This record gives sequence, C-alpha cells and structure tokens, in this order.
Amino acid sequence: MVSMSGVQKHFGTHHVLKDIDLQIAPREVVVVVGPSGSGKSTLCRCINRLETISDGTISVDGVELPAEGKALAQLRAEVGMVFQSFNLFAHRTILDNVALAPITVLRQPKAEARRHAMELLERVGIADKAHQFPAQLSGGQQQRAAIARALAMKPKVMLFDEPTSALDPEMVSEVLDVMTDLAAEGMTMVVVTHEMGFARKAADRVIFMDDGRIVEQNSPAEFFDNASSPRAQAFLSKIL
Ligand code: ATP
Ligand code: MG
Repeated sequence: MVSMSGVQKHFGTHHVLKDIDLQIAPREVVVVVGPSGSGKSTLCRCINRLETISDGTISVDGVELPAEGKALAQLRAEVGMVFQSFNLFAHRTILDNVALAPITVLRQPKAEARRHAMELLERVGIADKAHQFPAQLSGGQQQRAAIARALAMKPKVMLFDEPTSALDPEMVSEVLDVMTDLAAEGMTMVVVTHEMGFARKAADRVIFMDDGRIVEQNSPAEFFDNASSPRAQAFLSKIL
C-alpha cells in the first residue's frame, strides 16, 4: 500500500532520512518508535508530501507520489494524517470540520457529505458534539473529531504522528480505542507513538528509527522482548 525505496531527505546540509526502504502491506499497522529527532515525523510528512524528498521514490497504492498539481491533491486525499495538535477549524462546527473537505475537494453533494460526517462522528463516539465548536470539546474529543475528519476523505492509508502526546492522561485511551478499532477494521496505518501498550496490541510491526535510519523492525512481541540492536535496547530501557 505504501512503498518507499531509497528515500533520502535533507534539510539544507542536515541529512534527516537516510536510505529508507519500507514496504507497508494493505491492512498492515506499523508503529514507528525512536528517539527525538530520529526522523519519525519527517517520514510521515514525506509519505503525504508535506515534505519533498531529496532522492528515492515513494508510492501509495502503486502510484508514485507526484511533486505537485492536481495529482498531488488527489494523493493527499488518499493519505489521511492526524497530528499531535488537532488543527481543527476553530470557527466551524465539528460536523462542518468533518464534512468540509469532502464537499470542497471530493465535490460530494452537501447532504451526502454531512450524512457521512455524522456516521463518522458516531463511529468515534462524539455524535452528540456535531453542532458544537472545537473549543467546546475536550482534547480527546477534538482528537477524535480530527480522526473523523481524516476518515471523511476515505483514505487508503492513515498516518498518525503522536496523536495522544498532547492529551491529558485520562483522555489518551479514548483516542487509542478509536485507533484500535480502526486497525481491527483493516485500515492501513502508520502510527508514531510512545504508547507501547497500543503498539503491543494493535501493531503488526514495530519500526525503530535512529538518526534517520530504520535500525530494526520486528513484530511487537519480538521487538519489545528481544530487541537485537544496542540502540533499540538502550531506547527501550528508557521508555519501558
Ligand atoms: P520527535 O520525537 O521529537 O518528534 P522526530 O523523530 O519526529 O522527533 P523529526 O521531527 O522528523 O524527528 O526531525 C528529524 C530531524 O530533522 C531533526 O533533527 C529536526 O531538527 C530536523 N528537522 C525537522 N523538520 C525540519 C525543518 N522543517 N527544517 C529543518 N530541519 C528540520
Ligand atoms: Mg516527531
């Protein structure tokens, strides 16, 4: 579903992604872990072209990422992204936040987009908040709204970059539960997170990044109990 081959990313002279090869199968859930600055966010941002890559290729569902133009807009629609900060439109209701892009980008009829948006809000458990504004919701509810907004575009892949890092502890599980359901339903997902419980439960594969490289990858059970590289062992000893 996602294929990265020989991907390099530089910011000026700073080499941030180093020869990344990564194949993600349909329905696969990949959790990405690693120290701060290792390139996890950059990897996600390259997958939907929020960043341009310096070399290599990335394709989504067999189509190589275009650099710009209409094809890029279409590809972006196929890759949903959820960030640490929810980035909801403050002056739109929750329902409008979810229905807006399907109407403006996918040209869905308004009534259909709003009906689908309502279904998604039910799915993430905040249908009762549909007519409220983002500021009236808790952080966990806002993040679930952001997930519904990404799902409204019917993406083929969902990228999550530390989706629970900005949340109060008691709200983390309500967001992880939605993500766990999504994984169980067969969504292809790339998840950057420090939530190792989620990784153990929902991931098919854990990828450990350090200094711009994929240093190690394995099933969660193998990775957490038998990490082979010293760098992964050192990382795990700090977080587990
Ligand atoms: P964290 O766990 O702190 O979120 P990360 O693994 O997500 O870290 P990235 O945000 O991908 O790391 O950053 C990787 C490296 O690239 C860092 O050294 C960072 O300073 C650098 N970097 C990221 N974005 C930019 C940018 N827009 N311009 C210049 N350097 C950048
Ligand atoms: Mg990051």
